Amino acid sequence: MKKISSIISNICVSTLILLSITGCGAWSRQREINEGPEDEDQRDTLFQVSLLQGLTFGDYHGSVPVSELMKRGDIGIGTFDGLNGELIALDGVVYRAAADGSVETVGNDELIPFSNVTFFDEDEVLEIGAVADIDELKALLDNKVKELGVNRFYMVRIDGDFTTMNVRSEYSQKEPYEPLAKVLETDQTFFDYENIEGTVVALYCPPYMDSLNATGWHLHFISGDRLYGGHVLGLSFDSATAKLDYTDGFEMLLPENELFNGFDLTIDQSEDIKKVETDAESKDN
Ligand SMILES: [Zn+2]
Repeated sequence: MKKISSIISNICVSTLILLSITGCGAWSRQREINEGPEDEDQRDTLFQVSLLQGLTFGDYHGSVPVSELMKRGDIGIGTFDGLNGELIALDGVVYRAAADGSVETVGNDELIPFSNVTFFDEDEVLEIGAVADIDELKALLDNKVKELGVNRFYMVRIDGDFTTMNVRSEYSQKEPYEPLAKVLETDQTFFDYENIEGTVVALYCPPYMDSLNATGWHLHFISGDRLYGGHVLGLSFDSATAKLDYTDGFEMLLPENELFNGFDLTIDQSEDIKKVETDAESKDN
């Protein structure tokens, strides 16, 4: 195994990209993670499987088992092999919010093509009053991030009673995979809940992450009874508590498959990413 380490910013963010060089052929190999969080510094690392830009191009091949992912965090977001639903990791349990609206816990062997996780250590608490929509929430969180520092990562959990909660999921895909924006044109489902208690898991990525992930906020939701959830497109609430975990380490594990390795990742996908992350237009259709 060949390891390449590089510093990608001047704020102590280390990117560890682990690349395994194996034989050729149409391979897609399961990745192993050998190093665990041995000290506090490692707990404060955001771990990422693949690039969001790989997922949006259509690489839905799972590469990291749930059991391995959980070595690197107990909270996070992502998706599953074949784009089989939205991933919510909370308190060390991985849940799938599926396209039919159901939620289930996911077995250790299921493979993950894209995810971000970290170990949640509460650094800051923000009591939030009435919020009318998701943009208002993002603006409030942005203000807090401006105060704490915009150039690091934040994993936030927001526990509360949500007046409205609008989520989406998507149907599992079969190869050959289509790009994510195309898949979502036909294969996403929307669920609108009212007066639902639960937890939003929100990831903030700093502006320089625009080639590796979505910058700004990415929110997933799971209800307190673990029956409902998905990728958050809209919400409102009267009050909620946001707990922020700031994270100044970053580690990324790339997938090993020919589809991913063949992508031209110099192509700017920012418009597509904005579309797949928010997709408010198709919700109204
Ligand atoms: Zn999502």
